[in-house]
Order: sequence, then C-alpha cells, then structure tokens
Amino acid sequence: MAVSISKVLRASARFQPIRCASTLPNTAEINESKPAYGLCFDLSPEQREFQELARKFAREEIAPVAAHHDRTGEYPWEVIKKAHALGLMNGHIPQEFGGLGLSVLDGCLIGEELAWGCTGIATALEANGLGQMPVLIAGNTEQKKKYLGRMIDEPLMCAYCVTEPGAGSDVAGIKTRAEKKGDHYVLNGQKMWITNGGMANWYFVLARTNPDPKAPANQAFTGFIVERDTPGLTPGRKEMNMGQRASDTRGITFEDVVVPKENVLIGEGAGFKIAMGAFDKTRPPVAAGAVGLAQRALDEATKYATERKTFGTEIYKHQAVAFILADMAIGIETSRLAWMKSAYEIDQGRRNTYYASIAKALAADVANKCATDAVQVFGGNGFNSDYPVEKLMRDAKIYQIYEGTAQIQRVIISREHLQMYKQSH
Ligand SMILES: Cc1cc2nc3c(=O)[nH]c(=O)nc-3n(C[C@H](O)[C@H](O)[C@H](O)COP(=O)(O)OP(=O)(O)OC[C@H]3O[C@@H](n4cnc5c(N)ncnc54)[C@H](O)[C@@H]3O)c2cc1C
Repeated sequence: MAVSISKVLRASARFQPIRCASTLPNTAEINESKPAYGLCFDLSPEQREFQELARKFAREEIAPVAAHHDRTGEYPWEVIKKAHALGLMNGHIPQEFGGLGLSVLDGCLIGEELAWGCTGIATALEANGLGQMPVLIAGNTEQKKKYLGRMIDEPLMCAYCVTEPGAGSDVAGIKTRAEKKGDHYVLNGQKMWITNGGMANWYFVLARTNPDPKAPANQAFTGFIVERDTPGLTPGRKEMNMGQRASDTRGITFEDVVVPKENVLIGEGAGFKIAMGAFDKTRPPVAAGAVGLAQRALDEATKYATERKTFGTEIYKHQAVAFILADMAIGIETSRLAWMKSAYEIDQGRRNTYYASIAKALAADVANKCATDAVQVFGGNGFNSDYPVEKLMRDAKIYQIYEGTAQIQRVIISREHLQMYKQSH
C-alpha cells in the first residue's frame, strides 16, 4: 500500500518537528520562485502528497465498499484500521502526544478526498476529530497524553456527546446533570444522535453542573472525558438514518455514571465554551467533506453525461445538461475556497467563527444541490440504487443538519456580520 503520512513528513527536508506540518503560508517558503507575501493558492509538496495518498485511498479502499456499508449499516472497521495505519485519521494530534501535528488545512485536504469515497465512512473517521477537539483545545498534559496518545497506538474511536432528545440547536437547553460528590462527579441523563456512539472508547460529555436555571451558559456546564466502560453508561441501538449509514449514530444513557474529577476539562463551568469552541476547528473539515461529496457528484454526472446518448448525441452536448455541470462546478470551486479560507484563518491563530460557518453553510447547500443535480443528469437511473448518485443525495442531507443546522449557521453568520458592522461604524 501507499507511503503513510508520517513517512511523507519524515521525508520532507522542510518539516520542522513540533509545529504545523504545512500550511498555505509555508508554500511561499517552499516555492522560492514565488514572493513570500500576498495570496498563494499553491499547495506545498507535502500537502500534495497527503492529498494524493487520501485520493488513492478513497478510490481503492473506500469507494469499492461504500455501497456494502450503505446497504448493511455495518461499521467500516477494516477501512478504519487501514486509514489509521496510513495516518489518514487523528492527524491533528500534536507530535508531542505521538501524532502528526497536522494543521486544520492539512486535515481538510485529506478529509475532502476521503469524503469523495463515501461520506458515511468519512464521518465515522471525522467524528474522532470532533470527539478529540475539546481535549485538544482544553485538556491538560495528562489528559492529552492519556486520551489522545492511546488513539495513536490503536485504531480507537471517540465521540462528542452534547445533543439530547430535547436539545440540539439550543445547546444551553441540555438536561444531563453532573453532581459533585467528593473527588468525583455523578452523571445522569440522556444523549442523542451521537456519531460513533456505540464504537467509542471514550466520550466528551457536556453536562449541567449548576442546577440554577438562571445561571449563564458559560458558567452552568462542565465538559468531562468519560471512559466507555464506566458502569451506568449504555449506548442505545444503532439509528437507521436516511444516509451516511456506515456511520454509527446512537443515543447514550447515563445512569449514575461516576467520573473522577481528573477528567474535568479546565474546570467546573468551562464546558459550554469548550463545546462550542471546538466547532471553529471542526466545521472547516465538515465543509471539506461536503465538497468531497459534491465533487463526487460532479465526477459521476460528467462521466455519465459523456456516455449516455439521447437524440443521437451524448447528453453533455445538450446545453441544458452542460449548464447543470457548469453550475455544479461553480458551487464546488467556491465552497472549496470557503473551507480553505476558514481553515487558513484558524491555522493563523485567528478567530474564524464567521468563516467556518460560511464554509459549512455554503458547502452543505452546494453538496445537496450537486447531489440532486447528479440524480437529474442520470435520469431514471439516478433514482435507482444500482447507480451511485441516489446514495449521494441521501448522504448529502445531513451536512445541513449536524454540527449546527443550515439555519444556525446563518444565525452565527448574521450575528458576526452585524458585530463587525457595528465595530466599523
Ligand atoms: C446523523 C447525525 C449525527 C449527529 N452527530 C452528533 C454528534 O456526534 N454529537 C452531538 O452532540 N450531536 C450530533 N448530532 C446532533 C445534531 O448536531 C443536531 O441534530 C442538530 O444540531 C440539530 O438539533 P435538533 O436535531 O435538536 O434540531 P432542533 O434544534 O430541534 O431544530 C429543528 C429545526 O429548527 C431550526 N431551528 C432551531 N433553532 C433555530 C433558531 N434559533 N433559528 C432558526 N432556526 C432554528 C433548525 O435549524 C431545524 O431546522 C447528530 C445528528 C445526526 C442526525
């Protein structure tokens, strides 16, 4: 099989240990013929290798088994083990904890390619990034060593447990409680729609620690790391979803689950900020995944349009069909730029909330439009599960729902926009 990501990094003379492997600005250093300022859309040689490796993996290892996992709902352990061995998952874990220390942009490049193969499988992989992010941004050294380190040693999964049956968009409405008793906390409640819910080795769990309903959200909740085998923690049945069926989505019940105080992230009351802060780094990869799906839809539609004939000619020669392809291309190129911008901003250490929501909202809408358009180009065949595009249409929908719905992204974007407007007037 192909050279792993860590080998690519080791082979790179310019790779500096303990820093982001390669972000776009480094491209200017690497490509000496270009000035080291201003815009640069070139990828570095390492980034091109990551991208190529992920592209090959998606075509050879993911796409061929995608229909099987979609049909059966079987969790893609074999793919995960291979992706783990090649460094195609957990890439953002810092080198000091055994990881590759990839930038958000590097991770997105890989994620877009994997999503091309199957977004159900890519979501199972990407959910590790979401589960790990609270620990990455708020964990202490011991917590990072213990919970991130073990994921490098073995292909383990983790999960991000925030949503509940009664509260998804309205995170501050969650009811799971955590009560301090001596040197531990006792958790009780019910989570819902947790990706990797039944496969996780550990969970990030958001729970209310301040029982006062009037307590502000940024003081009322606490983030915990909870081991899967803790007594009282019970994953529910695997949910049968419209799409992305390779991914494991479940409810999780917490009944007197005892969590040591060492597993609190930062401290009591810090949970809401941690849970929401994770999205600045996880929404760019979700957007990149949606672009991968849209690109797959365009690739499939283009191939079909050059093969299928009506009225004596290939259908791409009908302008109405060619323009569908053109509109798909417009959406893909612009949403790709949007995820790149949002990833670039956070890699520069700048707040990217506005760009991350724009990228996520745009890419999700584009993925849905492209998948629907691909079905249209396929005609009757597009409606049939023997062809790849009906799965794309089912898989695309979730991008407008998870990690903040299409409406919630617009709430964020409008809030950020108005804040910037007021600051500049
Ligand atoms: C397959 C899948 C995987 C998921 N994975 C995870 C996971 O790993 N971890 C996790 O914690 N959660 C996960 N989720 C939960 C997901 O993030 C929520 O479903 C999502 O945030 C929406 O919440 P809700 O379902 O409660 O819908 P609601 O919040 O009830 O929203 C219903 C509708 O109302 C709209 N709406 C709500 N509030 C507003 C508002 N203020 N303004 C405008 N419109 C509004 C919404 O956009 C939506 O259209 C997953 C969900 C699914 C389906």
